Amino acid sequence: ASKEKGRNRFSRFAPEMLHEEQWRLQLLHELEKGLAREQFMLHYQPIVDMASGRTVKAEALLRWEHPLHGVLSPGEFIPAAEESGLIVALGDWVFREATRQLAEWRHLAAPAFELSVNVSPRQLHASEHAVQDWLDWLQQLALRSDSLTVEITEGVLLDGDQATGAKMLALQGAGLKVALDDFGTGYSSLSYLKRFPIDFLKIDRSFVSKLPQSQEDRVLCSAIIAMAHQLGIEVVAEGVETREQHIFLRGQGCDYGQGYWYGRPMNARSLGERLQAEAGQADPLGAAPGQ
Ligand code: C2E
Ligand code: MG
Ligand code: MG
Ligand code: MG
Repeated sequence: ASKEKGRNRFSRFAPEMLHEEQWRLQLLHELEKGLAREQFMLHYQPIVDMASGRTVKAEALLRWEHPLHGVLSPGEFIPAAEESGLIVALGDWVFREATRQLAEWRHLAAPAFELSVNVSPRQLHASEHAVQDWLDWLQQLALRSDSLTVEITEGVLLDGDQATGAKMLALQGAGLKVALDDFGTGYSSLSYLKRFPIDFLKIDRSFVSKLPQSQEDRVLCSAIIAMAHQLGIEVVAEGVETREQHIFLRGQGCDYGQGYWYGRPMNARSLGERLQAEAGQADPLGAAPGQ
């Protein structure tokens, strides 16, 4: 819902004030300014181990606190950032900020906690030294590389881009984990699984939202989970909004859940408090709302 609000906010300005091209340039200029002025921030959404109910991981989600338009979600500015190449600088910022925060949480609250960051194809493609720079940075933070998962959407490696494929493999070679995001929404999900070693598969929200009523989606989710497990891949269900969805997916052996039912994306401080609270709890989901 907040995504819709944000989009309206922008589109309310765009057509009235400026021609489309002018608007795009304006947006790019604002993005650059925003980066320099530290208007970006990360929210973190819990990823819960379905068996134990514990928040074992979080996904870092980018937000732009625009001085005029309020908080903007990534769908509103990532495409422009990708088109312009600014995604490289923005993505570097995300990587550094997220890992700095992860190191703090592991130190203070949860030693085994992990983080997922989204990486766009263009970002991997465009940055010459990204992989080595990132590894150096992790080392500076004394962070194990396997505490970090890189989320990519399919399509990244299937457009014949060898260099990007090589970078993904280098990241994995260095111990980072790779998640295939929004699984099932593209044309080539299955051939991707065949070609690249994946650690996690994230079932897209569109397969989860009509559970458990939809017989089709029940079959698809069960089959995806079974197939992934046979390939040695762990499964995260996205967009889990109800207790019934959680129960169904857990019953099918799904490993992790992410969605409003476990928690909305929240600021770093709130997630830190959640981790502290869970540290002293035997059964965190037992205390979850809606239970
Ligand atoms: P994603 O990686 O698939 O992230 C999940 C999106 O689903 C997030 O939207 C999250 O707020 C939303 N979501 C989570 N649980 C639920 C739920 O139970 N119900 C519903 N209806 N929605 C839920 P958000 O934050 O707007 O991000 C949208 C997309 O933007 C992300 O999709 C990701 O592809 C991209 N993105 C976010 N941060 C970054 C970033 O730092 N870099 C890049 N390149 N892309 C990013
Ligand atoms: Mg993601
Ligand atoms: Mg996703
Ligand atoms: Mg998604």
